[in-house]
Amino acid sequence: MTELIHLLAGIVGDRHVLAPHDDAAEPFLSEARGDYRSAPECVVLPGTTDEVSRILRICAEAGMSVVPQGGNTGLCGGAVAAQGEVLLSLKRMNRIREVDALNGTLVAEAGCILADIQSAARSVQRLFPVSLGAEGSCMIGGNLATNAGGINVLRYGNTRQQVLGLEVVLGDGRVWDGLNPLYKNNTGYDLKQLFIGSEGTLGIITAASLRLYPQPLQSQSILIGFSNLADCLNLLSLARRDSGDQLSSFELIPAIAMDAAVAHIPGCGNPLQDSHPWYILCQFATSSSVIPLEQMAQSFLESAYESNWLSDAVITTSENQERALWNIREGIVAAQRNLGRSVSHDVSVPVSRVPELITRVIDALTVHAPDVRPYPFGHIGDGNVHMNLLQPKDMDENEFAASKPALRSLVYDIVLELGGSFSAEHGVGLLKRELMDLHKSGIELSMMRAIRTALDPRGLLNPGKVV
Ligand SMILES: Cc1cc2nc3c(=O)[nH]c(=O)nc-3n(C[C@H](O)[C@H](O)[C@H](O)COP(=O)(O)OP(=O)(O)OC[C@H]3O[C@@H](n4cnc5c(N)ncnc54)[C@H](O)[C@@H]3O)c2cc1C
Repeated sequence: MTELIHLLAGIVGDRHVLAPHDDAAEPFLSEARGDYRSAPECVVLPGTTDEVSRILRICAEAGMSVVPQGGNTGLCGGAVAAQGEVLLSLKRMNRIREVDALNGTLVAEAGCILADIQSAARSVQRLFPVSLGAEGSCMIGGNLATNAGGINVLRYGNTRQQVLGLEVVLGDGRVWDGLNPLYKNNTGYDLKQLFIGSEGTLGIITAASLRLYPQPLQSQSILIGFSNLADCLNLLSLARRDSGDQLSSFELIPAIAMDAAVAHIPGCGNPLQDSHPWYILCQFATSSSVIPLEQMAQSFLESAYESNWLSDAVITTSENQERALWNIREGIVAAQRNLGRSVSHDVSVPVSRVPELITRVIDALTVHAPDVRPYPFGHIGDGNVHMNLLQPKDMDENEFAASKPALRSLVYDIVLELGGSFSAEHGVGLLKRELMDLHKSGIELSMMRAIRTALDPRGLLNPGKVV
C-alpha cells in the first residue's frame, strides 16, 4: 500500500495525496446526510486528465478499486469509498476550457462547480439550465454521473439533455476523447449516454462539452396557496397553456414545509396572508423581450381563480421578490432538519398520478404509522416527489430508525403500483442498491452488468454501487 501511495504521490505531488486521518481529508470522507462515512486508503486529487489516466493505470495494475468524487453532495452514498479503495476527487480539475456563445457550447472540466458554469454561461448572455439546491458545491462531473435533475427539468430536461460530448478515462487508464461540440452525430452507439447516470461505475468523466441556451430576458415567479391537492394538475396544464409553454419550474410545497422554512430559515417569510394546505411555486421565463409574460402570468392567475383552483397567490414584480420566493423553496430542505430525523424517498410517477401518490401515502400512514409526519415536496411538474417522512415528535431516534424499512416499503409499494420509479433524480449509489435487485427486471440487470463488465472487467470502478 505504501508503495502505491508513493506512486500516486509521484503523479500528483505529495500534497495532493491525503491520508484519511489528515484534517484536510475530512470533507471528502463525510457525506451530505451523515448516513455513510468513507474509510479509503487515501484521497488523491489529480489536476489533469493525464494524471487521472496514470492514476487509473497504476491502480488497475495493483488491483486497487477507485471511487470518483465530485462535490460530495450526492444523496445515495455513491461517492463513499470503503477500506482498501482509493477516493479520487476531481476537485482540482476546475477549468472552464472554452465558452462559445455562437455555437452555444461550453467545455468544462469535471471539477467545475455547477454555479461557476452557470456564471460562465451568463457572462456571454447564455443559460446553462441545470439548477439545484446544491449548485454552490456540486460539480458538473457529479451532475453528469448522477444525471441530476433540479428545478428546470420541466423546460430543459435532465443533465443528460445538456451534453454534447464527454472526455472519459476508462478503468485501465485509456482516455476516450469524445468532447465534440456537435448537435448532430449519428455514428454508431451514442457512448456518452452510457457514462451519464452511471455514478462512476463505468469510467471517470474528466470533461464535458455542454449545451447552452439563450439567456431569459424576462421571468415571473408565482406563489399559489390552494387546498385541493388534485388541483395541482389543473394548475399545471393551465400554466403551460396560458404561458405559451414558457413554464420553466413547477414545485410543490406542503404547509408543514412552508411553516418550517418560515420558522427556521432567516429571511424566509410567507408572502401570502393566510396559511394554506398546499403551495405551488412556479416560474415563467422567456428569452424574448416581446412576449407579454407578465400579462400571461396574470391571465393564468385570473383563470385559475375563476375556476376555484387557488385560494390566494402572489406574483413577483422584481428580481429581489423573485429571489425571496425561491429562497423559500431552497429553505424547505434545510428547514426539515429542525423537525427531527427523516426517511427520504426521491420518487417519480407519471405527472397525472402525483396527487394520487401523495394522498395514498398519507392515507397509508394514517393507518400504519399515524404519528409519522409526511413532508412531500418537489418537482411535481416532472412527476418527481421528495416523499420525506419525519420522525414522530415523541419517538426516540432508535425506534424511528427501526421503523424505516417498513416506511420505505409503504412508499415504494405505492410508487411501483402507480408505475413509478424508486429513484427519480438522485441515483442508486449504495442506498438503493438492493432496490435494483428487487424491482429491476432480470433482463435489465443482465444488460447493465454486461455493459459494466465490458468496460471494467475487473470491477475496480466504484465497486458495490448501482448494480
Ligand atoms: C441541498 C441539496 C439539494 C439537492 N437537490 C438536488 C436536485 O434538485 N436534483 C438532483 O438531481 N440532485 C439534488 N441533490 C443531490 C446532488 O446534489 C446531486 O446528485 C449532484 O448531481 C451530485 O453532484 P456531486 O458533484 O456532489 O457528486 P458526488 O456526490 O461527489 O458524486 C455523486 C456520484 O457521482 C460519481 N461521480 C462524481 N464525479 C464523477 C466523475 N467525474 N466521473 C464519474 N463519476 C463521478 C460518484 O462516484 C457518485 O457515485 C441535492 C443535494 C443537496 C445536498
